Amino acid sequence: MKQVNILGIPFTNMDHVTLVQQLQLHIEQREKSFVVTANPEIVMRAHDNSYYMDCLQAASYITADGIGIVKASQLLKNPLPERVTGYDIMMEFLEIANQKKHRIFLLGAKEDTLQRAVGNIQTHYPDIEVAGSRNGYFEWGDPTVAEAINEAQPDIVFVALGVPKQERWIAENFSKFNKGIFICVGGSIDVVAG
Ligand code: UDP
Repeated sequence: MKQVNILGIPFTNMDHVTLVQQLQLHIEQREKSFVVTANPEIVMRAHDNSYYMDCLQAASYITADGIGIVKASQLLKNPLPERVTGYDIMMEFLEIANQKKHRIFLLGAKEDTLQRAVGNIQTHYPDIEVAGSRNGYFEWGDPTVAEAINEAQPDIVFVALGVPKQERWIAENFSKFNKGIFICVGGSIDVVAG
């Protein structure tokens, strides 16, 4: 897989269509995957914090979430094809999940926001199975969060705990899972909640 290194972060050199195809393949083959959509804030945080950098290095794919990252790659003469945001990937995978009847799990946001998002998803994407959800205000290290995901056996897990928690949480818990694509989606659950 081709990568573009920006301040130590190995960005995946893939346009969003190829990335989505690749992730669908992982779902079909019941493989797990960890997707980070990195904006300049994430890049600078990882540059200053080696533990957070290690968490990002554990990702399967790191996309450029911001035109500034794409521009930086052009300056480095190793251009990334386009910006790929967490929100865009989430919207695309809600469509795919509806077509393929995939199971999804939502992790993050406040409880009332989360429940509104689940309701909106069930209304607009009737063939998606919402296999589970958990709000993002749990104690760090609470084992029941990963247990709930394992029990639900989702194909896709949208993780919206904000930066840097979402990347840290997946990196620290990834070994507990044997399938599922885990996508960091920032404030997207809030947006879906309306
Ligand atoms: N969030 C959460 N748990 C936390 C902190 C944040 O679930 O401990 C959620 C928050 O409710 C929101 C999402 O993470 O739904 C994104 O939060 P924020 O806008 O602060 O993060 P950013 O998108 O700037 O990384």
